[in-house]
Parts: sequence; C-alpha cells; structure tokens
Amino acid sequence: MHPFALSRADDPATAVAIQTRDPGLAFIAGGTDLIGLMKDRAALPERLLDINHLPGMSYIEARADGGLRIGALARMSDVAASLAVRERFPLIAEALLFAASGQLRNMASIGGNIMQRTRCAYFRDEDDLPCNKRRPGSGCSARHGLNRNHAIFGWSDACVATNPSDLAVALAALDAQVIVRGRTGERSIPITEFHRLPGDTPERDNALDRGDLIVAVDVAARREARASHYLKVRDRQSFEFALVSAAAGIAIDGRSIASARLALGGVAHKPWRLRAAETALRGVSLDDRDALRSAIAASFAEARALAHNAFKIELAQRVVVRALQVAGERT
Ligand SMILES: Cc1cc2nc3c(=O)[nH]c(=O)nc-3n(C[C@H](O)[C@H](O)[C@H](O)COP(=O)(O)OP(=O)(O)OC[C@H]3O[C@@H](n4cnc5c(N)ncnc54)[C@H](O)[C@@H]3O)c2cc1C
Ligand code: SF4
Repeated sequence: MHPFALSRADDPATAVAIQTRDPGLAFIAGGTDLIGLMKDRAALPERLLDINHLPGMSYIEARADGGLRIGALARMSDVAASLAVRERFPLIAEALLFAASGQLRNMASIGGNIMQRTRCAYFRDEDDLPCNKRRPGSGCSARHGLNRNHAIFGWSDACVATNPSDLAVALAALDAQVIVRGRTGERSIPITEFHRLPGDTPERDNALDRGDLIVAVDVAARREARASHYLKVRDRQSFEFALVSAAAGIAIDGRSIASARLALGGVAHKPWRLRAAETALRGVSLDDRDALRSAIAASFAEARALAHNAFKIELAQRVVVRALQVAGERT
C-alpha cells in the first residue's frame, strides 16, 4: 500500500484552502473508491484530508417547492431510504439501491459517488498496461483490446471508458446541479456538464479545479420526477456495475407521453442524455412499443460500437423502452 499522511479538516473553507495549495493532497470521504485506487496504484496521493467531519454537509433537505438538496457527505444508504427521495424522485432511490452493496452504501457519500473513477480494467490494473487516463500519452489498451464494457457514445481514440456512477445517470435525467465550493466561492455546475468526454485529455474526468469541494447536489422539482424509474442491466443481479442502465421520467396526457427525460449509464465517459429521443417521444402512446422504439432510435444514430460491445446498441434501446413502461405504470 502506498504510504500517506492523514489529517482532518473541520470547516469547508480550510479544506478548500489546504487542497488548493497542496497538489499531493486528496479529499477522502467514505474511502470506498479512493482506497481501492491507491491499492491499485491508480491514485498516489501523499496526503489525505478526511472531510467526514465538515459541518452542514450530511443532510437531506426536502424543499417546500418539491425539490431536494442533498449534502455531499450524506451516505448513499440514507438517501436511498429517505421517504422524500423515494416519493419525489423514485429513480434516485433506485439508482442508489442498485449500486454497490449494503455495506458500501453505508460508507459511501453522494459527493464521492459522482467523483468515482472508471472501472476500466486496464485503468485499474496494477501491471501498468498502456492507459491514457492513468498515464497520459501511454496509449489506450481498451481501444483495440477487451472493450465489451466500454463506451458506444462520445469516445475518442485516446479513451473509450465509461463512467460507473448510477446516481449520476438519474441526476442527469433530472438536470440536477452540483454545488461546489472553491477558491473563489460557491458555484453551481449542471450535472450534465460536470463529467467530461475524454477527447485528448482522458486523465481529466470532470469540471472540478484543484481545491474544489462538492458541498451538495440540488434537484429541482420536475413534473416527470414521480413517474420515473432507474433500470440497470448487469452481468449479475447484485454487487455489479451497469452494463447498460437507463433513467427515465415522464409526464403523460392520457396514455400519451407529454414529456420525457432520459439518460443512459454504462455507455459513455459521462451520463448520456437522450435529448433527440425526448423530443421524438412527445405524443407517443406508452402502449405503442414500435413507436416508442422508433422515437428512441433518434438518439442512436451517433452510437459507435467497439469490437466487443455492438450488443449495447440494441440492449440500451430495449432498456429505455422498459424503463419508460415501468415509469408509465407509476403515473
Ligand atoms: C465493490 C464495489 C462495487 C461498487 N458498485 C457500484 C455500483 O454498482 N454503482 C455505483 O454507482 N457505484 C458503485 N461503487 C462505487 C461506490 O459507489 C463509490 O466507491 C462511492 O460512492 C464513493 O464514495 P466515497 O464517499 O467512498 O468516496 P471516496 O472513495 O472517499 O472518494 C472518491 C473520490 O471523490 C473525491 N471526493 C469525495 N468527496 C468529495 C467532495 N465532497 N468534494 C470533492 N471531491 C470529493 C475523493 O477525493 C476521491 O477522489 C462500487 C464500489 C465498490 C468498491
Ligand atoms: S479506455 Fe480509458 S481508462 Fe481504459 S485503458 Fe483506455 S485510456 Fe485507459
């Protein structure tokens, strides 16, 4: 195990200031991703700053306007169990419950969840195979290697990895905001712009700068939120990352879709919003499977399979249809 020094911050301003001036320091919350990365030598911070005792970051606030604010240190299990979350945003509760294991969810924080790094086996491998995310400029072993679990949207020759967070997919469908405290104060980043596409710099996963501390996630009330569902397909039914997942929320008019919100997981370096499909779905009957399929196909013209993952293109469309139908049963 890589040696490190551990200290603790007691207020957010100090945490931001300490990390801003120390490039060898990383925040640690539940540690369920970071410690694994350190064991795999994919992250080698010399100093860890324990942020678990920062005040005012562990709450779940059900707002009077129907929205929700979740502190970055709230634990996945507490958020999944919250009555307000389950009633107002069932897809968020489901995305959390279908993630990791009970023990991990008790430790893992909301901020850590959206910050977790890819599960690409080459990135996590201790043997130091070429990986541009781990060692910029070394190449991408997955591009022409084993890429069954990799991206079908938005990838580059430099990196074909997917983002593993289930929660981020549900939040993307809802246009949630990530509240960040940094050197110049607090700002809000749309979750759809929080994670980056790989381009030529896959070592950068997200829009955060040094010193930035996620303090909360804001989810506004949406008319598509209650009739919503998170559907995750994985190689085994528990304790596994998504092969493909879909977050769907709808508002209906009779049996027709008045508006839809859709995002996919397991298909890109970031949660993948299906905006063309959302537009095409307006007015489509939930009972007309063929019409649902052809509306969803509007978002798949830009899908590009790798050698081993062409099946994801068909699978993802079926998962979206099913997620919409389950959401429709909740209207
Ligand atoms: C076996 C296993 C299975 C898993 N399965 C799934 C799954 O199916 N779906 C899924 O979504 N996840 C899954 N996970 C991932 C798990 O959800 C994450 O490890 C967890 O959410 C990370 O939260 P944490 O608090 O432990 O983060 P940490 O490990 O403490 O931190 C992770 C990263 O986030 C940074 N960080 C933490 N908090 C903040 C903050 N407030 N501001 C800025 N940076 C911060 C840290 O510096 C670090 O870089 C699995 C993990 C394991 C080990
Ligand atoms: S897909 Fe990305 S993370 Fe995986 S080997 Fe290629 S560069 Fe590394």
